Amino acid sequence: MEYDVIIIGAGPAGLTAGIYLARAGKKVICLEQGRVGGQISIAGHVDNYPGFPEGTTGADLIALFEAQAKRFGLAVQMGRVDGVKVEGAFKEVSVSGFPLKAKVVIVATGLVQKLGIPGEEELLGKGVSYCATCDGALFRGRPVAVIGTADWVVEEAIFVANYASKLYIVAKGPKFEPTTESRKELLAFEGVEAVTGATPLEVTGDNRGVTGLRLDVGGEERSLDVDGVFVLSGKKRPGTEFLKGVVELTEEGYIKVGENCESSLPGIYGIGDVCRSEFHQVATAVGEGAIAGMDAIRYLKGN
Ligand SMILES: Cc1cc2nc3c(=O)[nH]c(=O)nc-3n(C[C@H](O)[C@H](O)[C@H](O)COP(=O)(O)OP(=O)(O)OC[C@H]3O[C@@H](n4cnc5c(N)ncnc54)[C@H](O)[C@@H]3O)c2cc1C
Repeated sequence: MEYDVIIIGAGPAGLTAGIYLARAGKKVICLEQGRVGGQISIAGHVDNYPGFPEGTTGADLIALFEAQAKRFGLAVQMGRVDGVKVEGAFKEVSVSGFPLKAKVVIVATGLVQKLGIPGEEELLGKGVSYCATCDGALFRGRPVAVIGTADWVVEEAIFVANYASKLYIVAKGPKFEPTTESRKELLAFEGVEAVTGATPLEVTGDNRGVTGLRLDVGGEERSLDVDGVFVLSGKKRPGTEFLKGVVELTEEGYIKVGENCESSLPGIYGIGDVCRSEFHQVATAVGEGAIAGMDAIRYLKGN
């Protein structure tokens, strides 16, 4: 299948670029591996995005972005991009091994919270997930671990607890007590166990998927027998593994871009959190989505 533009990532940046391109009548598709809306969709309250004097929620804001994109016919398709290569005038984008072609690729993959432990990358999509509300239902009747304890993580864990046979909540701190309403709700599920003072060491598995999570608990090693590991804690890193050797990246993995968000390769753009090491905001992401959308229209005209 050939497109004018493939957008990778349906967060605020990608959806904005999609609105500009679909509205201009371009053949454009937006690919999303997890939750449409990206990081902001889990924000309880958004107070600093213009146009909402009383503030709004991340979910409500994204519902509006999506409705506007749909009005112009933007196709959003679920799929994880694992490769990009240049084939003459076209770029070939691999979606779980399936090739799609486009004249322009806009990378809007944002940031992912990663632990960087062995097995995490290798077992991504085979039991390792960064989005509990996207993948939780896949673990019906199966044991899982959720790593992290922030309020939004607890909300995500509650979603998974509705399906899982056993849920370990892996906490770095020494305690995980029912101090909030959502913690109380989570701990009330049968089969929920908090493992505190724990540092994840490795996600174990084989070619069929995850089989366990190895932890250091207060100096002692402990292995959890789980089929799924939700990594909802760790350092935020740009989602650019599939771009290594394709375009120039910074040492930390951010896409190096010019004034109009173009990367080191003509026809490949980087927008939003994936190309800036600070000022990670919806307003900055949508601004770059608009710039790349407009510049891509000009690029298509000239090529
Ligand atoms: C809890 C929380 C609260 C926040 N609150 C605010 C706030 O109040 N105000 C504010 O301005 N900002 C806030 N932010 C920051 C804001 O959410 C981000 O700056 C913004 O979402 C960045 O948008 P983006 O489109 O660049 O990337 P993201 O939102 O990260 O979206 C990237 C998308 O790309 C997808 N993706 C990644 N890799 C691939 C791949 N290989 N294949 C296919 N799809 C892929 C991801 O699944 C994701 O949906 C908050 C963030 C968090 C986490």
